[in-house]
Amino acid sequence: MKNFCIHTLILLFMSAALTARAQDEEKADIDEWQTLKVEAARDPFEKKNQFTINFRNYTVEEWAYPLPGAHVISPFGGARAHHAGTDIKTCPNDSVHAAFAGEVILSGPHYGYGNCIVIRHANGLETLYSHNSKNLVKVGRWVQAGEVIALTGRTGRATTEHVHFETRIRGKAFDSSSIFDHDRNQLRKDIFVFEKMPNGTLRISKAEKSQEAKEPAKEKAKNGATQPTHNQ
Ligand SMILES: [Zn+2]
Repeated sequence: MKNFCIHTLILLFMSAALTARAQDEEKADIDEWQTLKVEAARDPFEKKNQFTINFRNYTVEEWAYPLPGAHVISPFGGARAHHAGTDIKTCPNDSVHAAFAGEVILSGPHYGYGNCIVIRHANGLETLYSHNSKNLVKVGRWVQAGEVIALTGRTGRATTEHVHFETRIRGKAFDSSSIFDHDRNQLRKDIFVFEKMPNGTLRISKAEKSQEAKEPAKEKAKNGATQPTHNQ
């Protein structure tokens, strides 16, 4: 009888905990893409021409800077108009980390990219890491944010050991500095709206307005005049 009571209590406790967790998840997620691992292979623009990622809710376990301690040696676009990535550098054979959780959809030599890895994330983005001396994960593998996936090298078209890092949506690269502050090796903790324009280009904006509307008036007044901008 005593055993029965303990079991009942445990069951009650577990179901309460599960319910609480389900509610938390519902509240936290602004976009279905962030919850469904199985949805990672879908086109985020399949249903509508825009989707949102709320990085404000991302915990330290949910994102990682791909090469901690690195500095940018060549930005996206810039002087090299066709540069589709951001070149970041530390030292040879340093650990390259997955930016977010996701499925490895390419791992191997890929033309000028040398040893290259592409990960498709549940949040709708893809990231690419190339010129690696060694790839440590295979296609089909689900990796966690921060997991070491490769070692830095200079395979392919590269004159020095570095990571050519790309952020993409369905293969189309956009400037990774929109979402990563490369000076601080940090994710920008904002709500981003990714929009497919009629001419096929991608527009990235911050969902500032809707967020402001949700904030109490006094918070707004306090921050109003000295709103920091970090889009240099
Ligand atoms: Zn590059």
